[in-house]
Amino acid sequence: MRPVGSQDGVADLARALLAHVEYQRSLGASGVPRNATAPAPTSRALAPEPGVGGVTSGDTLGGVRAELGDCRRCKLAPHRRQIVFGVGNPAARLVFVGEAPGADEDAQGEPFVGRAGQLLTEIITKGMRLRREDVYICNVIKCRPPGNRNPEPDEVSACEPFLILQLGAIAPEVIIALGKFAAQTLLRSKTPITKLRGRWFDYHGIMLMPTFHPAYLLRNPADKRLVWEDIQKVMRVLGLPIPAR
Ligand code: URA
Repeated sequence: MRPVGSQDGVADLARALLAHVEYQRSLGASGVPRNATAPAPTSRALAPEPGVGGVTSGDTLGGVRAELGDCRRCKLAPHRRQIVFGVGNPAARLVFVGEAPGADEDAQGEPFVGRAGQLLTEIITKGMRLRREDVYICNVIKCRPPGNRNPEPDEVSACEPFLILQLGAIAPEVIIALGKFAAQTLLRSKTPITKLRGRWFDYHGIMLMPTFHPAYLLRNPADKRLVWEDIQKVMRVLGLPIPAR
């Protein structure tokens, strides 16, 4: 039995968000203000919106990918080589969520395969003693922002419902939000990542741990120590043995 996690709660949230975004689009809006699609993270009891995009709470990751299709919902579409949906175990107990694909990810169609990705892979394999394919890895944004600029609010509004659907389909026990963008987006917070990291949050019934982004660690290797502390907290919750260092 999964001790925490609420597949229905997350899926209901995703349906409500998708319904809202599709409704705004039907009114001619090109983007949706963040607050309009942003229920507080503690509000779990969102009413389902039946039939939105054919998405149901029992949907699989494949169903979510099919629903995303050849997405043209935001202005990133013409710039991307391919959609970078996510990779890993569809029943993972642990999901890593990053920001958006970079050039390497856009070229290969897989999240976290560049230099930052290699560091994330080391955290998973050498630190946690798991395989990349044991966990699930994805991003808030599924298409590369041109020049690796920060994702814009309308892009987040268009894409985040699919992240939420992914999380609902996987129903992990723990989410690790990698870096300021993922943590602040998921938590609807403006608190700096230095204050968010290392603390547990409730994300619609799923335990969420923010930590520094691996790209930040490449520039600030001294802070790997803090990330290892955060990772060990996650390992304890998941009942994983913590290797001596
Ligand atoms: N950075 C991210 O946030 N995601 C990726 O997939 C790669 C780099």
